[in-house]
Amino acid sequence: MQFEYRAHGPVRRTYNRPVSEVKCTYCGTIGIEQGFVEDSGDGSRGYARWIAGPLERGLLGGAKRMGRPRRQIDAYRCPNCGHLELFATQPV
Ligand SMILES: [Zn+2]
Repeated sequence: MQFEYRAHGPVRRTYNRPVSEVKCTYCGTIGIEQGFVEDSGDGSRGYARWIAGPLERGLLGGAKRMGRPRRQIDAYRCPNCGHLELFATQPV
């Protein structure tokens, strides 16, 4: 995903912006923009994941996640109010 801005004139987007039929549960706008939640931490895959079960921390403070099912997080952003709708979709 990539943004490109011109100094003057309208913003031109270089990627095909996926807009869904998902409705914003905050303001009711239909057609919110699909995206995902980035994880830019060291050694990350670049995206955040949903992990089943309550958060438990190990001795070093990190989250225990061995053996837990994990799913991709799809994040839909409302262009009207900025609200995010998060969906944990397919296993990753
Ligand atoms: Zn909204």
